[in-house]
Amino acid sequence: MDKDLSHIKLPISAAGHHVRHYQGIVPAVLLEGLQEAVETTQVQDAHCDLKAQIERGKLHVTGTVTATVSMNCSRCLVDFERLLEGDVERWYATGVDPNNGSMGELAVTDETVYLEDDLFTLAPLADEELLLHLPMVPLCGEGCKGICAQCGANLNEGPCGCDDGPQDSPFAALKLLKLK
Ligand SMILES: [Zn+2]
Ligand SMILES: [Zn+2]
Repeated sequence: MDKDLSHIKLPISAAGHHVRHYQGIVPAVLLEGLQEAVETTQVQDAHCDLKAQIERGKLHVTGTVTATVSMNCSRCLVDFERLLEGDVERWYATGVDPNNGSMGELAVTDETVYLEDDLFTLAPLADEELLLHLPMVPLCGEGCKGICAQCGANLNEGPCGCDDGPQDSPFAALKLLKLK
């Protein structure tokens, strides 16, 4: 069994200079952003392999976070699984962000994350890191053929027998738009 890391609460001010290794899982239920993302239909536990160390007065966290999620293909509408992999490179400090006072979610990968309560926990890190690797347009595969605009058949399973050239019809184009 992989170790559950959800109980880890590291006070940054008391972290010391020795290196900490965090290897284990963050339960899927704690990956709130990933669960709520419109792209995902199912989220599995995240696996973490992280190293944390105080450097220059901040907690430097590096390593990898991975999780398998299910998504609905935007072309063929079939559920598929994908392994999300994040390379972590983050800095944590205690207090309020001196730059803007609020944490810019999109900027957390290359800036310091300020924790007002001084407690570093792994679930938000795993959640945010994995969210960054969620595709904007989920596709079961680069070569997904989608569904037939006329009969709705999944064209990955073979030709449906409809005439070619549905692209010529404005009605077919409209139908395709609606499916997105
Ligand atoms: Zn597909
Ligand atoms: Zn068809």
